[in-house]
Amino acid sequence: MNISQGVRFFASLFLLSFAGFAQSATPGSEPSAGIDLKAIDKSVDPCKNFYQYACGSWMKNNPIPPAYSRWGRFDQLQDENLKQLHAIAEDSEKNQQRSPTDQKVGALYGACMDEAAVEKAGAKPLQPELDRIKAMQNKGELAGEVARLHDQAVTAFFRFGQSPDPTNARMTIASAGQGGLGLPEKGFYTRTGPKDIETRKRYVEHISKIFQLLGVPAADADAKAQKILTLETDLANASLDNVSLRNPRLTLHKMSLSQFEQGIPNFDFKQYLVDRSTPQFSDMNDRVPDFFKALNTTLTTTSLDDLKDYLTWHYVSANAEELSSAFVNEDFDFYGRYLTGAKELQPRWKRCVKLTDQELGEALGKKYVEKYFGQNSKEKTLELVGLIEKSMEADINSLTWMSDATKQQALEKLKDVTNKIGYPEKWRDYSSVQIVPDNLVEDVTHTREFEEHRELNKIGKPVDRKEWGMTPPTVNAYYSPLQNNINFPAGILQPPFYNNSADMAVNFGAIGVVIGHELTHGFDDQGRQYDGDGNLRDWWTAKDGEEFQKRAQCLVNEYSNFSPVEGVKLNGKLTLGENGADNAGIHLAYMALMQALANGIVDKGKLDGYTPQQRFFLGFAQVWCQNVRPEAARLRAQTDPHAPGEFRVIGVVQNTPEFATAFGCSAAQPMDAGDKACRVW
Ligand SMILES: [Zn+2]
Repeated sequence: MNISQGVRFFASLFLLSFAGFAQSATPGSEPSAGIDLKAIDKSVDPCKNFYQYACGSWMKNNPIPPAYSRWGRFDQLQDENLKQLHAIAEDSEKNQQRSPTDQKVGALYGACMDEAAVEKAGAKPLQPELDRIKAMQNKGELAGEVARLHDQAVTAFFRFGQSPDPTNARMTIASAGQGGLGLPEKGFYTRTGPKDIETRKRYVEHISKIFQLLGVPAADADAKAQKILTLETDLANASLDNVSLRNPRLTLHKMSLSQFEQGIPNFDFKQYLVDRSTPQFSDMNDRVPDFFKALNTTLTTTSLDDLKDYLTWHYVSANAEELSSAFVNEDFDFYGRYLTGAKELQPRWKRCVKLTDQELGEALGKKYVEKYFGQNSKEKTLELVGLIEKSMEADINSLTWMSDATKQQALEKLKDVTNKIGYPEKWRDYSSVQIVPDNLVEDVTHTREFEEHRELNKIGKPVDRKEWGMTPPTVNAYYSPLQNNINFPAGILQPPFYNNSADMAVNFGAIGVVIGHELTHGFDDQGRQYDGDGNLRDWWTAKDGEEFQKRAQCLVNEYSNFSPVEGVKLNGKLTLGENGADNAGIHLAYMALMQALANGIVDKGKLDGYTPQQRFFLGFAQVWCQNVRPEAARLRAQTDPHAPGEFRVIGVVQNTPEFATAFGCSAAQPMDAGDKACRVW
C-alpha cells in the first residue's frame, strides 16, 4: 500500500489516464438501453445536479467495502478482472502441463500465498542487504549501495532511468530526476496546516515503528525517524511541485554526463553507473538541476549513520508488503488506513494477484488475453476511434480562434496519432528471470532487477513504440505525448465498458468520450507542446498560443472552485490536462453521435423514456458513479491530476450547451453555465 512506490516514474510520468466504465456489472440485469436505471435518483432535478440525478441511487446502494478507499463502477470492473486473473494464477500454480513462463507466474503467486512461510521468515530475507548498509565505512561507499537499492526499485535519494529524448523523441536518453520521499509529494513536507502537521507526525511515528520492528529500541527509533523526516524535507524543498512537473520545459536540461557529475561532486556517480551496468552514454537529461544541487549539500551535511538510517528505512518500506504480518499491517496502517481511509487490508489473494500483475504483468496478461479477450472488441474499438478522429478533424477545422497555419499543424499531428488496442504484438521475454519457490522477497528482488535493467538497457537505443506502459488486464488507458499514440489495454474493452448489445448513444457517451479524452491529450496544455513525432517543439503561432491559454484559464478557474471534502479545493492547474481532455472528449463524442444519428446507426426514438441525446449524457455520467472516503478525497485532491467523478460530470455538463438543450435546462440553473461556459477544443 506504499503509494510512493508502485508508480514507475519514467514509465508512468506521461501516462495520463482516465478511469471509468458504463453500467451494472451484474450479468443478466442489463437494462435495454444500456443505461442503469436503478442508479438514477429521480427525485433530483437533472438541471440542478446531474451527477446526483445520474448516480444518486447507485451511491446510496453501493457503500464502499471496508478494504477500499473509493468504490465506483470503475473499481467494480477492476475487481471483476482481478477474479479472472486469480483463476489464471491458481491454474499456473497447480497445472502440471504448464510452460516455463507459467511456472514462474505460478511460483511467484504461490510464494506470495504461502502465508506461513512468509510469516516465519519475518524480516530475515532483508538481513543481507541491511547488513551491507550497516557495514558501510565511509560516504565513498554510498554510490555502490544506492546503485544496489535502485536496482531493486528502491528510489532512495533520487531517480535514474531512461525516457525518449524530448528533443529527439525516436531515441532514448538517460534521465535523472528528483525522488527519495516517503510521503506522496513535495507539498506534504511544505504545507503548514494542522492536517499537514498531523500527517508528518504520523509519518514519523510510522517510520519509528518500522525501526522498532527491526529491533531498535523505541527512543532510538523515534530519533532516527525524526532525522529521516528532516533529510526528506531538505529533498522536498529542492523538488519541483506537481504542477511544475507538468510543464515539460521545466524538466528538460540536457547536458553532458561530465557536467552532471560535476554538479554532484559528493556522490560518486561514475561508480554508480558502473554498479548499475548502464550502457555507455555521453549526454543525459537532468530533469531538476536544483534538486541535485541540494542533494549534494545534504550528502555533505548529514552524518554517515543518518544516511544509513535513511537507506534502511527506504529499503524496508519498499519491501514491507512482502514481509510478515507485523510489517504488512504497519505499512497498511499508515499508507492505507491513515492516508486513504481504507478500513481493512484486502484479502491475501487479491494482494498476491496484484503483485503478480505488477512483477510479471505480460506473462499473466498473455494468458488473460488468450482466455478473456475477444478480437471483436478490438475491431469495434478501432472503428469508434476512427469516428472520433474524424470528429476531431472537423472540430479543428471549425475553430474560430485558431489561425489556418496552426490548424494545419494540428491536423498533421492528428494524422500521425497511432492507436494501440488490447495487448502488445510482442510479449516480454521473462526467460532470464529466476523465480524460486517459497522465497517471496528474493523473487520480487529478481523481478525488479530484471525490470530495472531492461529499462536501463534502452539508453542510447531507438525507442520501441510498440511497447506498452500498462499491462493487458488494466482497466485504464493512456496517451503518450513523446510517442503520439493512444493505448487501450484489453482490460477495458469488454462489456459493460463497451457493450455490443447496448444502445449506441450510451456507448458514444461512455467509451466514445473516453476515446475523445485520450485523443485530446495530444492537444491539451501539455500535449500541445509536442509535435506529431513526439518532439517538444512549438508549432503554434504566438497569437494562437495566447488564445489557447486564455481558454484554458477558464477551466483552471472553474475547477479550482470545486471542493471534494470540507476545507479542500481542487487544484485547477494540477487537473487542467485531464479536465481539458474531459471537456473536449464529450464534444468530440457528441459530434460522432450526431453523425451516427444522421446515418441511422442510433435509434432516434426514446428508449427507457430517454431521447438519444439524454442517453448519451447518462452514459457519460454513469461511468463516474462512485463513493470516496474523505481521507482519499483529500489525498487525491493533493496528488491526482484527475478530478473526482462528481466534478468530472458537473464540470463538463455545465460547459456543454447541448446538455442544457437535451434536458431543457435554462441559463439560470446550475448545470448551465450559459455565457460563462469554458470551451477550448
Ligand atoms: Zn486522461
